[in-house]
Amino acid sequence: MQRGFYVGRFQPYHGGHHGVIERIAETVDELVVGIGSADKSHTQRNPFTAGERHVMLTRALADVDLTPYIVPLQDINRNALWVSHVCSLCPPFDVAFSNNALVIQLLEEAGIEVRRGPVFDRSKYRGTEIRQRMIEGEPWQDLVPDAVIEMIRDVNGVERLQQVSKGDVFER
Ligand code: NAP
Repeated sequence: MQRGFYVGRFQPYHGGHHGVIERIAETVDELVVGIGSADKSHTQRNPFTAGERHVMLTRALADVDLTPYIVPLQDINRNALWVSHVCSLCPPFDVAFSNNALVIQLLEEAGIEVRRGPVFDRSKYRGTEIRQRMIEGEPWQDLVPDAVIEMIRDVNGVERLQQVSKGDVFER
């Protein structure tokens, strides 16, 4: 029995993340999925709340062959303490999966094994591109799981993103 760890902002959770987790599911039985920047929402870069992202992940992962433990992780302003912060909130895990240089550095310094990748069709799936399509009223629905479309519709997420993108002077 192996338990992995994978963190992302999931703004929104999209087909690339889903493809990555399906690949990870081939190598571990359980996965701690950290919702990064859980304290952020209602900005152009981070439009959705941790709760909304939790629903996206819970529903989308229902058809993946692993047991997910979804844990919101707020950012802290001291990178040197971030792994302790993560470990204080998450179930124990054996191995982490990341391509983020800072995340890899911090986890490996703490003695945690990190496996790079996999990357899933990165040219097609990008959170920034999906958010931009929403802002500009272009099609984005084929880039995310159906459960994510439903969640975004339920909270009027496209309208929210269009609204905050007009006057979001605090964070982009
Ligand atoms: P991120 O900031 O969410 O994403 C960074 C970039 O990597 C994005 O362009 C993202 O694309 C892309 N990406 C995500 N998963 C990928 C994959 N499997 N293959 C290729 N590219 C991928 O960073 P993250 O690594 O996904 O999440 C790290 C989280 O940890 C963030 O919330 C960060 O704030 C947090 N963190 C906090 C601290 C601290 O508080 N001091 C320290 C370290 C990390 P998409 O936009 O398409 O997702």
